[in-house]
Order: sequence, then structure tokens, then C-alpha cells
Amino acid sequence: MFPLDFSPICGIVVNERLQQPRSQHNLRKVGYPGIHAEAVPGARLSVIGSTNMEKRCTKCGKMKNLAEFGKDTSRRDGLRNWCRECIRCYAASQAGRAAFRRFQASDAGKAMHCRANKRHRDKNPKQGVCHHALSGAIAAGKVIRPTVCSACGQSNGVIHGHHADYNSPYDVVWLCALCHKHLHIAKRSER
Ligand SMILES: [Zn+2]
Ligand SMILES: [Zn+2]
Ligand SMILES: [Zn+2]
Repeated sequence: MFPLDFSPICGIVVNERLQQPRSQHNLRKVGYPGIHAEAVPGARLSVIGSTNMEKRCTKCGKMKNLAEFGKDTSRRDGLRNWCRECIRCYAASQAGRAAFRRFQASDAGKAMHCRANKRHRDKNPKQGVCHHALSGAIAAGKVIRPTVCSACGQSNGVIHGHHADYNSPYDVVWLCALCHKHLHIAKRSER
């Protein structure tokens, strides 16, 4: 027998790792046997929803329950490589926020934004009806849009008509963009 690092053909000493079949080499590189799709046939399906399996986060290096990983259908095991905590830290960081802005400006980001808007419209059909009715009434001169915010009194920018109830399209509170945003954030955290 020739030693592993000696090629019988040319007699040159070669790297042991290069002699291994590629798939085996890849398997060794993957640090979580039993989880990866290569080790468990049909893992992509069985991994999702399983509660007693773990995989290693490639960011923090900790072994964590599969519930700690978000979904990523483009990956073989159907899960992200970073745990939720690492994703959260990255999203809050300066680099993460810059990456998100780049994504928003890309075609994929714009398409995702459109899909989210459509989902929102489908879920809140009355909201669209109200906005349409109000802007129609403003254009026809039946409703006058004020120039000052009723909450803070400032007059910069467009004053929004906020609907407290989407069943009454002309019953609105007039707010500047900032007050309007804060009101919706407060309403969201109430729920
Ligand atoms: Zn992590
Ligand atoms: Zn205001
Ligand atoms: Zn509103």
C-alpha cells in the first residue's frame, strides 16, 4: 500500500484532502451531522416543525434549537444559517441597516415591497375605499384639507386625514406625517 499522501501515478506527494471524493469532503465541512440534508434524506421537510433537533449558528457558533432559526426556502435544510438572535443584532447594526436600504432599492426589494402592499390592501379593503372616497371629496371641493396638524399645530408638509373608523370615510383627524406615524405606532403596540 502507498501512503495516503503519495500518488502512485506520478510519485508526487499530494494533499490528503484533495484525494477524497468531493461529497465526502463537503460532509466533513458541515459541522452538524444529523441535521444537514445530506445526512438525513428528506431533511428539508422533516427539519421544519421539528422541536427536538439542533443546528449550529454559523455566526455565533452556538448549538441552538431549530425553532431559533428563521425559514429560508433557498437553503437545503429550509432554515437560515444564522440564529434569530444574530439576525436581530445584525439588522439593528449600522451595516445591517445599510444592507437593508440597499435591498429596498434593488429590484427584488421593490418587488417584495409591492407584494407586502398588496397583502395589506387585500387584508384591509375598507381602508382603500375610505382613502379613495376622501381624496375624491377633497378634489371635488366638498372637504377642505387643513394646513395645520390638529395635534402639534405645525404646518410643514401635507396634512394627512387619519381614519379612526374605516366605516365612516369622511370622519377624519387631520395630522402631520410625524403625528400620524406616531399614532399608528401607538395603536400597533396597543394590540
Ligand atoms: Zn447566532
Ligand atoms: Zn403633528
Ligand atoms: Zn391613519
